[in-house]
Amino acid sequence: MSESSEKSSFTVTPWEVEGEVDYDRLAREFGVRPIEEALLKRMEPLHIYLRRGYFFTHRDLDIILDQYDSGSPFALATGRGPSGDMTIAHYIPFEFTRWLQERYGADVYIQLTTDEKYFVNPELSFENAENYASQNAMDIAAVGFDPDKTFIFSNLEFTKIYRPAARIAKHVTFATARATFGDSVLRNIGWSFFPAVQAAHLLLANFVDGPTPVIVPMGIDQDSFLKIARDVAPKLGFPKPGAVHSRLLSGLQRIGGKMSASRPETAIFLSDDDATVKEKIWNAYTGGQATVKEQREKGGHPDRCVVYSWLYTLFVRSDEEIERIATECRSGERLCGQCKKELIDFLIDFLKRQRKRKKRSPELLKRYMYDGELARRAWDNV
Ligand code: SF4
Repeated sequence: MSESSEKSSFTVTPWEVEGEVDYDRLAREFGVRPIEEALLKRMEPLHIYLRRGYFFTHRDLDIILDQYDSGSPFALATGRGPSGDMTIAHYIPFEFTRWLQERYGADVYIQLTTDEKYFVNPELSFENAENYASQNAMDIAAVGFDPDKTFIFSNLEFTKIYRPAARIAKHVTFATARATFGDSVLRNIGWSFFPAVQAAHLLLANFVDGPTPVIVPMGIDQDSFLKIARDVAPKLGFPKPGAVHSRLLSGLQRIGGKMSASRPETAIFLSDDDATVKEKIWNAYTGGQATVKEQREKGGHPDRCVVYSWLYTLFVRSDEEIERIATECRSGERLCGQCKKELIDFLIDFLKRQRKRKKRSPELLKRYMYDGELARRAWDNV
């Protein structure tokens, strides 16, 4: 669904994000609810992404947590469209899903939508899509999911996904697909059918274990896919899947702009080396003044600063510390170089740890895809 309209200055669809997103308005237009204080309270101790409001809206999270409290477990579903190397923005939903798995003991279904990326991107060859899927799977395996409670699959390899997709496709009219995704789904018949495959992923726990509540951690731009799954679920006797939505991490070149893998200067890739990280962060957009003298006199604007937003959202866990950074910035006591250096140190340390964990990925992937307890159940039961 496009949220572009005459009164809006932004567009948000699963394939396109343009303009400065007004998240409050987007939440209203999508019909999703803010994650309110009472809901946060019952999830404590909170992940930094929840504490700082990066995950900010939901569908039915309260209902699914009520069911969990009465003894009914839920599953989690998230995924990746493999069209290139993964960025730190792609990593976030996986890390958040891992946290939810650990917190609630949930099964996790991770789909690599190799087929979708091939259908929608005229430049992407079939071979490259498959190569990216293999590389991305290595990064996802390094996130730290429970090998017996996690199933990672590519649609082109776990072709049994066609069975649930067929059951779903019969209930989705062209009118619904067009109303949800616009005319883009008409560009080729692979694209037209893909929402059924995506919905099959979101409902896969139901096909594996019978009716199961599912929570989908996702960027808010992907919410349209959930709507198809929510429409069809009751027709198949399944509960509607819920969701927790994140904002979109600002790209390095503009506050509010989306990080784009096709514009490398806007993103930090999990494959970036230390020198590249340094160069990108030194060139990142800040809310600082043009000169040191002006910064000292007038102070900066942390609320308009990409570097601050990354420190706030991703790395500085102490509330006192992040508040101190903002206060020092506004007063002119702090210069942008100091923030950039701190962000570089956080990123280099994070990427080093990711690279180290990745060494175990081949062995772990075997379990996530075939031999782990959940993987075996999925291959047997679907
Ligand atoms: Fe941003 Fe830090 Fe510069 Fe302030 S001092 S504008 S928080 S980079």
